[in-house]
Order: sequence, then C-alpha cells, then structure tokens
Amino acid sequence: MGAKIGNTNGFKKGQIPYNFKKSGVGYVSLHEWVAYHKPKSLYCEICGLVTDKLDASSINHTYERDISKWKWLCRKCHFREDKILKKVITVCKKDHSMIGDNLWINNRGNRVCLKCKSIRAHESYLRNKEKVKSLVKAYRQRKRSTIKR
Ligand SMILES: [Zn+2]
Ligand SMILES: [Zn+2]
Repeated sequence: MGAKIGNTNGFKKGQIPYNFKKSGVGYVSLHEWVAYHKPKSLYCEICGLVTDKLDASSINHTYERDISKWKWLCRKCHFREDKILKKVITVCKKDHSMIGDNLWINNRGNRVCLKCKSIRAHESYLRNKEKVKSLVKAYRQRKRSTIKR
C-alpha cells in the first residue's frame, strides 16, 4: 500500500505555475499572479507611505512574471512612475508584448505593435475589397444598361 504523501500538483511561491502560458498572459491573470506571489505590502515601496490603497506596479513596465520586478506603490508613486515610463511601454493596448520582432519604430519615433498593425492592415484590405467589389458591380450594371438601349 503506497500512499502518496505531499501535494505533487502544487507549486512553490515564486515559481511560475506549469499551466501558465509563456506569452499572451492577460492583464488580469498576470495581476492575479503578482497578488498571489507578492503579498500586498502595508506601505508604498518607494515613498514608504502607509496606506491600504496600493497598486502592484511593474518596474519599467516590462510585465514580466518575475516577482522581483514588481512593486507595491501608492497612487501618487504609481502615477509618477507611469508618467515617466509612458514612452517605454512594452505592451500594446491589446496586450501584445512589444519586444523584439513585434516592435516597430515608425519614422516619428513612436513604438508600434506589428501585430496590431497587420490586423489594421488586413481590416483595411477587407474594407477596400468590398469597396472594389461594389465599384465593379456598379460598373457592370451601368455597362449592361447601356448595351440594352
Ligand atoms: Zn509612494
Ligand atoms: Zn498589439
């Protein structure tokens, strides 16, 4: 009789759970992960203000699943960090990580997400396809009506 001892499915705090996807982790699940691995502080880790209104903030906005890269900050410090780091955001509005191959700097110096760019390009292609189709249809109808007369 070999009874199993211990929880083999569990994972230790600070480790990345096996079922976490390598990329494309949503904003909410990442913040849940942070809250789990980094117990909420009682004070701001920058100015030391004791408050219950603290936000988990990713240092340098890298949103890495590395707990040492996260800090609990008060609203004031979080806002200030955000303001400073606004120009080096590495995650686009749709949560694609803008690092390496997915990052494109346009000629105005703005960081552009290539995934979003290609999605937008495809959408405009589809829109134009419909437009071209309807133009051709209108042209053919005109042609037909002139032949009849
Ligand atoms: Zn603070
Ligand atoms: Zn994107």
